[in-house]
Amino acid sequence: MYVSEEHPNILQFDIFKDSVDILNFVTTSLPPDSDNGVFNIGFSGSDDFVVNRVKLALAWGLTPENFVFQTQAHSANYHIVTREDAGAGFYLKQNAIQDNDILITNQPGLCLITRSADCVPVLMYAPKQKVVAAIHSGREGCRLGAVVKAAETIHSQFGTNYGDILVGIGPHICKKCYTVDQECAANYNSRQYYAPDIVQPTTDGLFTIDLKKTIISDLIHLGIPMSNIEHCNLCTKHHAPSFFSARNGDQERFCAGIMLL
Ligand SMILES: [Zn+2]
Repeated sequence: MYVSEEHPNILQFDIFKDSVDILNFVTTSLPPDSDNGVFNIGFSGSDDFVVNRVKLALAWGLTPENFVFQTQAHSANYHIVTREDAGAGFYLKQNAIQDNDILITNQPGLCLITRSADCVPVLMYAPKQKVVAAIHSGREGCRLGAVVKAAETIHSQFGTNYGDILVGIGPHICKKCYTVDQECAANYNSRQYYAPDIVQPTTDGLFTIDLKKTIISDLIHLGIPMSNIEHCNLCTKHHAPSFFSARNGDQERFCAGIMLL
């Protein structure tokens, strides 16, 4: 990832750098152009999230009607976003796309948003069919294969070859920071994974889970080449306070967004 040339506190994916017909971004804990303030985009935490979302819109010359938010339910549920969804959830959670973690569209001018604080924000772009997706994939989303569902849906509904899908994996909790108990680890391991060592024991009786490795191995198994996948090495927990971290007790959320221009 690299720091946006326009906004010093916003990151963008290298994998999409040559894709001039999309906008992509990942916010941090700071406003786009200022080192003062907490840039919460989530529905909880500091109560100025609408103010911050307006700042985010203005930063890219957009309006609230360009944005589409989802509630995020730790599911692999997807929604094909249409013009009817324009502005969904910008002001109120009850108006967001409900019970959903995957937003997909081929419509320009709709900025798909996934919020995060340790969970993995994933953006996808299929340049040939001009389809974009924003995915929220935490532990449960990874276990359920949310990114697989997203890629499969882009493939089946828009006729995209897996090898043509570009993927950006944003800041999230790293495996060293993500320790869970035995029951949780066993539940995560209740499905088959394609890579070894995704769940590993620690010396103190706990287990670490590698969310990024889960996602990458799932994508490669589908047929998306590693050269199409950018994975960010920024950890939301140990790179605090640059991002928000649920494990650090933050109620706030940063976000990743992608839009066809
Ligand atoms: Zn970490």
